[in-house]
Amino acid sequence: MAEVTIRDLVKAYGQTQVIHGVNLDIADGEFTVLVGPSGCGKSTLLRMIAGLEEITGGQISIGPRVVNHLPPSERDIAMVFQNYALYPHKTVASNMAFALRMRRMDKAEIAKRVKNAAEILGLTPYLDRYPRALSGGQRQRVAMGRAIVRDPQVFLFDEPLSNLDAKLRVQMRTEIRELHQRLGTTTVYVTHDQIEAMTMADKIVVMQAGHIEQIGSPLDLYDRPANTFVASFIGSPSMNMLEATLRAENGGWAADLGGTRLPVTGAEGVTDGQPVTLGIRPENLALSDNGIAATVNVVEPTGAETHVVFSRGEADITAVFRERRSFAAGETVHLTAAPDAILLFDRESGARMG
Ligand code: ADP
Repeated sequence: MAEVTIRDLVKAYGQTQVIHGVNLDIADGEFTVLVGPSGCGKSTLLRMIAGLEEITGGQISIGPRVVNHLPPSERDIAMVFQNYALYPHKTVASNMAFALRMRRMDKAEIAKRVKNAAEILGLTPYLDRYPRALSGGQRQRVAMGRAIVRDPQVFLFDEPLSNLDAKLRVQMRTEIRELHQRLGTTTVYVTHDQIEAMTMADKIVVMQAGHIEQIGSPLDLYDRPANTFVASFIGSPSMNMLEATLRAENGGWAADLGGTRLPVTGAEGVTDGQPVTLGIRPENLALSDNGIAATVNVVEPTGAETHVVFSRGEADITAVFRERRSFAAGETVHLTAAPDAILLFDRESGARMG
């Protein structure tokens, strides 16, 4: 096992820079998830750690070694790809053993490692099968088995669950977490799916356009997003973003939403009349006699919760209610939130205030 240290990392394809000086510390044994919208540079970053892409500037270390110019085979990493990249004409056992054979490892040691990995992954009954005779989840496990037998310092996962159906994805999420708890290997995992990031990570790295927007634990990012990008990206349904003006009121501050005022906290060093963006999580909205007037648009019962999309002028507001209540389309209600459940963002920069 090893820590991974990334300093001032830059990547350009020709004249186009796609990673703009990234700094990141991944602790020994940590499960780190790189997440962000398509094209933000997360795969490129992972592939640079793997040695599959050259770096344009900066430094990557795995443990004490700077690996900038080492080929992938000398980095002591194992990568699991989205498309599994299994050899179709080799059995499950041979697929897992292949990299070890190439290294001319002792046969008995190879057999021991394959047996052990197969047991961990529940693949023992399938060792003689070919990939075509396996389900998607089993293929994914073989791909993980190939990584495990190598006993690397670092596991790298590139969107490994994207090709699986929704139910299997949830199951494999748990399996990969359990595997990590069992082996404790430093892991870097790329996904565009924020729920995958939230449920799997010790540490989440949110990226956008070749930059890191924020690094933190899942609940850090959820409760204290650094800016409107992270606030909107993390959480489902997304955080509501409402434009308001700050007003001094009763010795504190209130957000004026065009008539309705909601008391807020965390407004320090602000001026009366300052424009802000309010961020309110859907589950923090409650019905009240006064508050923001909103008209019921769509009601989505999930069983455990009721999601309601309200319209309010141009913008929609989404609320999640845990208690059951029926809403009629077109009905107008009033919504409010506790002062400490309202986040304030600078309207111009998008940075969180307070
Ligand atoms: P993500 O994994 O977050 O979807 P990528 O790392 O694949 O994003 O890509 C980041 C950016 O780099 C994108 O704008 C993409 O178009 C660009 N890019 C990736 N690979 C190449 C390449 N071989 N040549 C030119 N541009 C590339």
